[in-house]
Amino acid sequence: MNNDQLPSVLPETDRTRHRRLREQGSLDRAQLDAVLEAGFVCHLGVVVDGVPMVVPTVYGSDGRHLYFHGSVASRSLVASPGAAVCVTVTHVDGLVLARSVFEHGVNYRSAMVYGVPRLVTDPEEKLAGLRRLTEQATPGQWDYARQPNRKELAATALLALSLEEASVKIRTGAPDDGDGPDAALGIWAGVLPLKPTWGAPEADPLLPAGIAPPPHITARGGA
Ligand SMILES: Cc1cc2nc3c(=O)[nH]c(=O)nc-3n(C[C@H](O)[C@H](O)[C@H](O)COP(=O)(O)OP(=O)(O)OC[C@H]3O[C@@H](n4cnc5c(N)ncnc54)[C@H](O)[C@@H]3O)c2cc1C
Repeated sequence: MNNDQLPSVLPETDRTRHRRLREQGSLDRAQLDAVLEAGFVCHLGVVVDGVPMVVPTVYGSDGRHLYFHGSVASRSLVASPGAAVCVTVTHVDGLVLARSVFEHGVNYRSAMVYGVPRLVTDPEEKLAGLRRLTEQATPGQWDYARQPNRKELAATALLALSLEEASVKIRTGAPDDGDGPDAALGIWAGVLPLKPTWGAPEADPLLPAGIAPPPHITARGGA
């Protein structure tokens, strides 16, 4: 699916209106898409039996929806269709080490999505959503691995959450106290960048000899 039907400026709702640290907020949907495309793990927040539950889970995004999957027995997934959820995606880009502890912080890109997910029942959309989810984590893997059979599909719940009501926030750059009174303290200040990298692929010990990792995996893992 494409992004044509969603406005390029994120609509500010009462929930998504940035209040604190407003300068880090953005209404640019392209920035939201970039944050979502850069990750594959989100935190799904949902109230289950009156108690908030925040579940780390993988997702796929197609510019219009976030897709989540799991067992049909999963409590968070079973509770989600028809119930309001809040989903976050976070990338930590570095530690912001200021002169004062008060000004310490994190450089980051993050997104929050609010909505009521729907259970995907259309077989075509279910396969497309599962494909997106698989490809988001490992591009090229859907066509390489065996795809789900009818029994596996029946055991899997797929939820779709619209990206209509979402917000994005990004912090970059140096600490905020470089031009304040603490600048005279002689304390080192700056940013310690954090860059995730993949390691070399590690073969399953049960793998028969002669099966090499495919290029879409070695290309990422630097084997
Ligand atoms: C890794 C990380 C660490 C952080 N650490 C701290 C910390 O220690 N202390 C601190 O005060 N803040 C921290 N923040 C920022 C924090 O996420 C909030 O943006 C900020 O604290 C404002 O919170 P609030 O409850 O006042 O939200 P409000 O400003 O009331 O939120 C209003 C709306 O703004 C949007 N929004 C708020 N925060 C975000 C976000 N991060 N991403 C996308 N949309 C958002 C949501 O739609 C939300 O409903 C951190 C952020 C990240 C990503």
